[in-house]
Amino acid sequence: MNKVAFGTRPGRQTDGLEKLDHVLPIAASDAEIEAAVAEADLPALLAALAVLTGNDRLIADDLQPPPFQMGASIKPQGGMSAEAQAKARRLATQSLIVYRDNGCPPPDPSAAVLERAMRFLARDAGDEYLPLLRHELGLPRDMGAPDWHKSQTAPNREFRVAVIGAGLSGVAAAHRLAQAGVDYTVFEKNPDVGGVWWSNSYPGCRLDTPNFAYSFSFAQKQDWPEQFSRQIEIQKYIADVARDTSVRDNIEFNTEVVSLVYDEATATWSLRTRRADGAIRDQTFNAIITAVGQLSRPAIPDIPGLDRFRGAWFHSAEWPAGFDVAGKRVAVIGTGASAYQIVPSIVSEVAELKVFQRNPPWMLPTPNYHELIKPGMAWLLHHVPYYGRWFRFWQFWIAAEGRLPLVAVDPGWDHPISVGRANESLRLECMAHLEAQLVDRPDLLKKLTPTYPPGAKRMLRDNGVWTSALKQPHASLLVDGITSITETGVETPDGTLHEVDVIVFATGFLASDYLAPIKIVGRGGKDLHVWWGGDCRAYLGITVPGFPNLFMTGGPNTGVVVNGSAIFSAECAVEYALSAIGQLLAGGHAAMDVRDAPFRAFNERVDAGNLTKAWGVAKTTSWYKNQFGRASQTWPFSLLEYWRLTETADLADYELLPDSTFRADGGG
Ligand code: NAP
Repeated sequence: MNKVAFGTRPGRQTDGLEKLDHVLPIAASDAEIEAAVAEADLPALLAALAVLTGNDRLIADDLQPPPFQMGASIKPQGGMSAEAQAKARRLATQSLIVYRDNGCPPPDPSAAVLERAMRFLARDAGDEYLPLLRHELGLPRDMGAPDWHKSQTAPNREFRVAVIGAGLSGVAAAHRLAQAGVDYTVFEKNPDVGGVWWSNSYPGCRLDTPNFAYSFSFAQKQDWPEQFSRQIEIQKYIADVARDTSVRDNIEFNTEVVSLVYDEATATWSLRTRRADGAIRDQTFNAIITAVGQLSRPAIPDIPGLDRFRGAWFHSAEWPAGFDVAGKRVAVIGTGASAYQIVPSIVSEVAELKVFQRNPPWMLPTPNYHELIKPGMAWLLHHVPYYGRWFRFWQFWIAAEGRLPLVAVDPGWDHPISVGRANESLRLECMAHLEAQLVDRPDLLKKLTPTYPPGAKRMLRDNGVWTSALKQPHASLLVDGITSITETGVETPDGTLHEVDVIVFATGFLASDYLAPIKIVGRGGKDLHVWWGGDCRAYLGITVPGFPNLFMTGGPNTGVVVNGSAIFSAECAVEYALSAIGQLLAGGHAAMDVRDAPFRAFNERVDAGNLTKAWGVAKTTSWYKNQFGRASQTWPFSLLEYWRLTETADLADYELLPDSTFRADGGG
């Protein structure tokens, strides 16, 4: 049966994404409906059905999930009691039967019912959260869409924007520019969209944040196959969005940006690209949005002897297409998020597995980590209008401030590992989870027990596969370091040579070399990387003094690492850039250059904020910090705060630059 459209979202442009909300009419029997509801995520279903049917009984107090208490794990059904769940299922089943019998009328929710449903799920959200929640729900319209259009704002002015990178952030930027009617070109060094999701195709690669919340607010896919989908699904999603929005038509693939040079006379950027065939080209743009990601440049440690190794070796993000490890002796160096996915995926195929660990990861109990969306839930997602949106909203809200309080430093807290009371309870919960898996292996428990506070580096989702893999008789976990690599393997400090055929470097990325290796020269010949000196900083993570009309997404100090997802901060930065460009055009200015004072004040505040979080005070290594020990990647505050700071660009923070080559009245 074909999916049908329902309800239009006023204010939204037709952009090829409408079909994401289409559902099938219900023809199922009562019993089939009941069976589907048995597998539903109930809080989100109640909200969706209340909005669909207008029946407030579904979101009454007695069915509201209890106040949320985030711990290491997340309670199923929002912690609803068994009694409340049973009642919710009964009511939901009845509502769906009535909805079916009424011929599945299209929803037409009022603002009031939407707000009641939002408050039902986000029970502790103060009024200040409402605009953010509306933005994430995206009903009745896409709230992040620019509220201006170039055809009205500056119809005669030539204004071209270059977007660097066609990963998630680049696709979002391009889509928003298209919505605003601004000319743009995206440059992508790879042959396809996707960014990290294109390049990281190692075995086992999948999401480690809940999937529905890991999607654009403007492209809410209703039918993810898994709770934490695989790389191929995420890659397909990005490709589908790029195709359906026509962003894809404006991407120059296999084209790497090598330099950006600002011309003060014309207030434009000269952008030099190099194509895969070596061809160099210079083009001029009025503004640049960088969308290169923080985790795109592999870090390979400088281990003596690597050049001598006669086997195969590669970084996790550069796993050769089709490379098969079956029957081979494999070393995996590193035990971060990438290794955590690779090791369990290959352990049953390889002849021998040696995992080289420097610091063990903290693991968050996540029993549903490898779970498919249950058939009943999938059926509901295909038949209940906007259910996917409400499920995404619910996941977003649960994670919105997420585990931020659990990584807070309590002044005066005195513990060799944890940094505060809540952090200690998180540590104990994670330790109990680990100990339960290793009752039979005290040797492994010792090696796998972290000696740094939870949250000081990325915590991993765990459903037991990591310890199961390491317990295999042909697997070993080596924790004493690496002295060298020889022709045939990896040597450890005790002089043992671990002979292997393959070495996988799951050793992370050069996160703090943000925007390298692009040479970026701003006003007065200021070289961005020289000026940063390895310590990247930006105002709101987006703009840097001396580099007018250069907007960054995923920039310094925008990484939300225990709350929200990278998509959230990227969308914030994109919407900020669009707000800035809109005001620039409306005001007839050529360019905007962030002032020193807001830049400094922002960075001081963020630095102080990071020192109130586990990652800021812990001595352990991680991609959150740069070579100076400063947390240059992480955002230490709430999502709400970042959203509010970036909702609208305040031109008072900027020096506005005139340009003699165009006339503000639209001529030239
Ligand atoms: P990572 O988290 O930075 O981990 C790198 C690992 O390599 C760490 O265990 C590190 O040890 C180790 N290492 C680095 N240099 C080493 C050396 N010289 N000798 C031995 N070990 C060394 O990198 P990643 O695993 O690629 O993950 C990076 C980030 O990407 C994650 O934090 C996450 O944000 C993202 N990611 C996401 C997903 C997902 O969503 N599915 C999957 C993968 C990655 P130390 O801990 O001692 O530094």
